[in-house]
Amino acid sequence: MNNALILIVEDEPQIAEILEAYLARDGFRTVTARDGETALQHHARLSPDLLLLDVKLPRLDGFAVLARLRAHSDTPVIMVTALGEDLDRLASLRIGADDHVVKPFNPLEVVARVRAVLRRTLTSAAQVDSAGRCLRVDGLEVDLVSHTARLMVADGARPAPLDLTLTEFRLLAHMARHASRVFTRGELQDACLPEDGDALERTVDSHLSKLRRKLETAGATGFLESVRGVGYRLRLP
Ligand code: CA
Repeated sequence: MNNALILIVEDEPQIAEILEAYLARDGFRTVTARDGETALQHHARLSPDLLLLDVKLPRLDGFAVLARLRAHSDTPVIMVTALGEDLDRLASLRIGADDHVVKPFNPLEVVARVRAVLRRTLTSAAQVDSAGRCLRVDGLEVDLVSHTARLMVADGARPAPLDLTLTEFRLLAHMARHASRVFTRGELQDACLPEDGDALERTVDSHLSKLRRKLETAGATGFLESVRGVGYRLRLP
């Protein structure tokens, strides 16, 4: 992890320099882009392991960069927003950031978040078997053909089958594919209730709360986590 390449996207030179210095001190490699278009070019050329992405940028703002990135890439992104703004927009946009920090920030805290997101994405990368049939993330096993899911709560425990509706299954399978990411309600709605285009976001909440109860019954408390102001993510046992 310490060799990871972090793409810092920040137009204020002083802030960029502080982040470069603190990340380098912790052994990370860094590269910096001063605007959104350069960020996308750097991403395509250098395949960084994570982006620290400021929202207010020249040429292309951070939200536009994230949306373009997510069209084809799962690179972890930590959004950097200014105090008191942008959270609503982050929630309303159908995009997925992995975490976010608020300016003014403590650089040590940012480095800790970088480390945490990298650890989460490294350990929770979904494994799909060679037939493309079964998705495994930590204790969760999702069979994409039979539409069944099983959960192993503790090491060596017998996997418990989950009794899910089709929608609950789709939600779980979709989130398990990118188990470290925070999903917005809109994103989950598009992915899991496609035939119900008029569904309200609270319909998604209702399916998710039933899914959460079933997971808790299976012994996985805290497995499906609400991220305030943004959406939901899986926190695997
Ligand atoms: Ca800025």
